[in-house]
Amino acid sequence: MLKISPLFSGSKGNCTLIQSQNVNILLDVGFTYRGIVKALEERDLTPDDIDAIVITHEHTDHIGALPMWTRHTPTPVYAPERIADLIAQRVYFSDVNGIVDDFVLGDVAIAHYECSHDAVCCFGYKFTCGSSRFACVTDTGHYTDELTDFLWDCNAIMLESNHDEDMLRRGSYSFSLKQRILSPFGHLSNAQAAQVLKQLAGSCVKTILLAHLSENNNNKELAFNTAVSACAESGVVEGRDVMIYVVDQYKNEVSVCLD
Ligand SMILES: [Zn+2]
Ligand SMILES: [Zn+2]
Repeated sequence: MLKISPLFSGSKGNCTLIQSQNVNILLDVGFTYRGIVKALEERDLTPDDIDAIVITHEHTDHIGALPMWTRHTPTPVYAPERIADLIAQRVYFSDVNGIVDDFVLGDVAIAHYECSHDAVCCFGYKFTCGSSRFACVTDTGHYTDELTDFLWDCNAIMLESNHDEDMLRRGSYSFSLKQRILSPFGHLSNAQAAQVLKQLAGSCVKTILLAHLSENNNNKELAFNTAVSACAESGVVEGRDVMIYVVDQYKNEVSVCLD
């Protein structure tokens, strides 16, 4: 059994709660400490109930609450080996474990996919518990066949749908920031996410969470509609064959339960 509860998602911060029968994992703690604790309380959890924090990469929108969290609670932290030292500098009373290979937390096995992002190192992760499989891949500038393979056997995925390219190009960001976001080391656009979803037709994926939306260069309707159209083009009907949800930056009530 896996239960996935996105808490926060976007450039203001990212945090997802992943629960099995015997472990509670936070994937990234990139929102305010108070905000994360409050979101956990709403789900009848406290920081002491969290068994591990798994970090994708070192950007602030993914690790912002780490210093405050580890000052209060010595939760073990897991991060890509290449940034383990960097992460250790932001941590107080917790151990930082470097991830090189697949590893196990309780009854959950965790595999990684290396994202293409302007970080020292950025991983997407796949969580497997029995026959339940969930992957989260955000903060990646392009998609590859390897990504499709990584997502293929998952029942549910969280995939980046960061921006609409036209909105970004017409928007107020500086030229260099636009170039960074559009580059192969930036973020997946709605259209790129749509290409990934098209390639996943026929896969095990039944639930799609669109995540890490830009507040300035995207909106939920556009991200949702682009994904629904892409699925439809490959014969996959939203509401019948797959469920698609857009994850909010600040407030999320959807939990995905996989048996
Ligand atoms: Zn990032
Ligand atoms: Zn990010």
